Amino acid sequence: MSLPTILIGAGRKKRYTQGAVNPVVQRASSLVFESVAAKKEATANRAKGGLFYGRRGTLTHFALQDALTEIEGGAGCYLYPCGAAAISNAILAFVKAGDHILVSEAAYEPTQEFCNHILHDFGITTDYFSPLIGRDIAKAIKANTKVVFLESPSSITMEVSDIPAIVQSIRQVNPDIVIMIDNTWGVGVLFNALEHGIDISIQSGTKYLIGHSDGMLGTAVANKRCWDQLRERSYLMGQMCDADTAYLASRGLRTLAVRLKQHHESGLKVAKWLANHPKVATVNHPLLASCKGHEFFKRDFSGASGLFSFILKDHLDDVGLAEFLDNFRHFSMAYSWGGFESLILATQPEELAKIRPVSGVDFTGTLIRLHIGLEDPDDLIADLAAGLNRIKLHKNRVNAIQSLR
Ligand SMILES: *Cc1c(COP(=O)(O)O)cnc(C)c1O
Repeated sequence: MSLPTILIGAGRKKRYTQGAVNPVVQRASSLVFESVAAKKEATANRAKGGLFYGRRGTLTHFALQDALTEIEGGAGCYLYPCGAAAISNAILAFVKAGDHILVSEAAYEPTQEFCNHILHDFGITTDYFSPLIGRDIAKAIKANTKVVFLESPSSITMEVSDIPAIVQSIRQVNPDIVIMIDNTWGVGVLFNALEHGIDISIQSGTKYLIGHSDGMLGTAVANKRCWDQLRERSYLMGQMCDADTAYLASRGLRTLAVRLKQHHESGLKVAKWLANHPKVATVNHPLLASCKGHEFFKRDFSGASGLFSFILKDHLDDVGLAEFLDNFRHFSMAYSWGGFESLILATQPEELAKIRPVSGVDFTGTLIRLHIGLEDPDDLIADLAAGLNRIKLHKNRVNAIQSLR
């Protein structure tokens, strides 16, 4: 079966849909046992998809968990109230005081902050590595390294890692290390993490799974080796999402293939247009050869989502940045991404350098991150053209004032 077909059917067992097309929304804390024998059975089956207590999930949660387990090819899927909870709890499930973990320096900033502050206070040390490290990851592994945490493409700068080389290299040194990836950009479908030997594939379901910017969710699909420990420890740490949010994510799956196809096409069109614009220094889109690790992307991914970045030739000052960003028609300024709407954010290289502890940054212009939504890409290009022209006018004005001095 191909992906669009899998996405339509995933998790829609009769037990969950009760005769409708979609899973029921079963909102519950208490789940009632009919008899002492039924309670005994429910307790025995509490980790195997039986109804037990709301925190273990209801039919609505089971439908989504089954669907994501099937889609990502794991042994099970745990649900969290947001992506950040999925990341922190997945790591915490596999470390103890005195351990060491390796994290990509290009991981999502709050992931780094979690390691630098919370893990640090628990006596767990973190070393960062370049997303382009490849086989050299072996040199960074210590005797007490328990977890390697990847994110590819990189947050903001979009480098694509050579994941097969990294995974193979880790396994040769110590096969027990738990390898995790923040697979939010790849949505668990554009990059099959578990098939590439990764143990746990984590997503902020807030992004493309829910897909409409109206809910928050975290997911972690684990292989057989890690599933029991991830599930039981996440449960003990009180992780769960509400039934309504689980329902929204299941519903999002049905349109995920067509949405991603459009994000891919429109994103590529906008990226190619930007690459030819005189105000643009570089476009960091994994589908373009200008993106670091493009060759790994071509080999390992089946397509692109809608998030990428580009670097302006100019380093915009605050006035220039406001003139550029405050006046878009179709691009809103917001954190998050993965919804139907287009978004824009700027990061200055000196800000970015603080969250690239190994490599720093190798550019001087202002970086712009775009999420290309489901609008007509030609309207988005016209909006960007007007925005880049505002930069030109701003620069002309700055230059004119300087020449008067
Ligand atoms: C948004 C995001 C997260 C955090 O997810 P939340 O649902 O906002 O907690 C983690 N990783 C990446 C790559 C993200 O974009």
